[in-house]
Amino acid sequence: MREQILGFITPTMAIVFFFVFLVMWHRGKMGSYVLAFAASYILFAIGFMITHVADTAASWTWHATQFFYTLSLVVGTWGLARRVDQPAHLGIFLTIYLLAAFTLGFAIVMSAEIGTRLIIVNIAYGAIKLVCMMILLGAPRREAIDKLIIAFQAVMAAQFFVRPSMTLMVENSILANAYRDSIYYSVLNFSLTLLSLLGAVILIGACIYDQIRAVREKAELDLLTGLRTRRGFEQDVLARIEQAKVEGVPVSLVVADIDHFKAVNDVWGHQVGDRAIAAFGKVIENTVRDNDIAGRIGGEEFCVLAWNCGGDAAVAMAERIRMGFAEVKVDGMPGDHRLTASFGVAGRREGEGYGKVFARADAALYTAKQEGRNRTVRGSRDESTIAQLLTDKEKTEAASA
Ligand code: GH3
Ligand code: MG
Ligand code: MG
Repeated sequence: MREQILGFITPTMAIVFFFVFLVMWHRGKMGSYVLAFAASYILFAIGFMITHVADTAASWTWHATQFFYTLSLVVGTWGLARRVDQPAHLGIFLTIYLLAAFTLGFAIVMSAEIGTRLIIVNIAYGAIKLVCMMILLGAPRREAIDKLIIAFQAVMAAQFFVRPSMTLMVENSILANAYRDSIYYSVLNFSLTLLSLLGAVILIGACIYDQIRAVREKAELDLLTGLRTRRGFEQDVLARIEQAKVEGVPVSLVVADIDHFKAVNDVWGHQVGDRAIAAFGKVIENTVRDNDIAGRIGGEEFCVLAWNCGGDAAVAMAERIRMGFAEVKVDGMPGDHRLTASFGVAGRREGEGYGKVFARADAALYTAKQEGRNRTVRGSRDESTIAQLLTDKEKTEAASA
């Protein structure tokens, strides 16, 4: 009787967690992975209730429990994989399930003694958790919470593999109709209560962490261009320059400013000015690579940290942005009118931090403005040579002169 009452603690807890994840998903407008966590807990509760109240001598009880437990683990794995943008490989899980279900069916027919059945289903559950762990290990995202989730999958897999044989060593033979009176069942109840509680705490922690991160990221995005704000940009760049120092990766900064922008506002109005800023942001976004960091650091000033990129390659990138922007038609401006921008580039030198590289890139931008705009200038004392790129028009003029 005591076991019977204790047995209700686990599913009750699982139902509470189901609602917790459901509310977090709905109210927090969180990703579908949180809904998967909710589903995983309710499926677990259903599976647990079936073994706890149904006739354990009937074979359907075993098949139904295995079905709901497997589904619970697979749905949970799908959520975890989705959270870190990894494929869930559902085919592998279907194969594991079918193999286990078939073998279980065979074991049920063969004997009323349930040791073999328990080992079969638990090995399958352990295998699912193991595959889940491998999927998560494949994700590039590896913050503390992600490591904790991976470690928890390993613990889960291990307990599925070890617990049944350990318990069955103590208790040699359990008959199906006496399952709920067995030591095995008590140990199972206890470990499931503990693990589902621990799992839920880790997952709730992960959801809260994700939510805070999303809010912070959103606050650091500029509304007009979708690029980082100055604050977000500097935060990310500082961290990335530290990484560049440690890993010895070359990085460069490109600073850009739209030419004669005051006139755009004065002649065509602020709204058209805003559209021009957005258009420039789009060109930058489409030109930089995923590993680069781009931000709008002032009204119509932008900055890009080019990752794994020396001065020459950064100048080429600035030139691509410059030429791209020179072709863009901004809504509200006369058909043939095009805007231009000027660029300053500096490659990071040994020992330099963000401030120093930025100062050199900014000085180069100032030179570019002084020398007539619509051009890219590479920072002085940048690898001892001063390379200056003329506008295409000036190049043609120089060639023909
Ligand atoms: P230069 O070629 O030397 O850069 O000349 P400029 O006229 O572009 O000079 P500057 O870069 O100093 O001009 C910045 C102008 O950008 C001033 C301000 O009115 C305008 N501005 C700043 N933020 C915004 C914005 O969010 N929207 C619009 N429409 N204009 C902005
Ligand atoms: Mg300007
Ligand atoms: Mg400016």
